[in-house]
Amino acid sequence: MWTQCPECGKRSFASRKKANRYARAENLRGMTTYECGRNPGAIHLGHLPDGVIAGQYARDDIRRGTLRRPA
Ligand SMILES: [Zn+2]
Repeated sequence: MWTQCPECGKRSFASRKKANRYARAENLRGMTTYECGRNPGAIHLGHLPDGVIAGQYARDDIRRGTLRRPA
């Protein structure tokens, strides 16, 4: 359902719809979808948008047992 992004190594989806479907199937909560900054058109799934990685976790993203780092 997903491929590894050649640019950053994250899970990559062809569309936000597929990314969201995957998140739901895996019971991942608090996840967001965003377009890869280095590979336009590739949709990634993560709790940390690129702009947040450099900073800190958004409070809403910290949920016990549901916070997972992208592979
Ligand atoms: Zn990427």
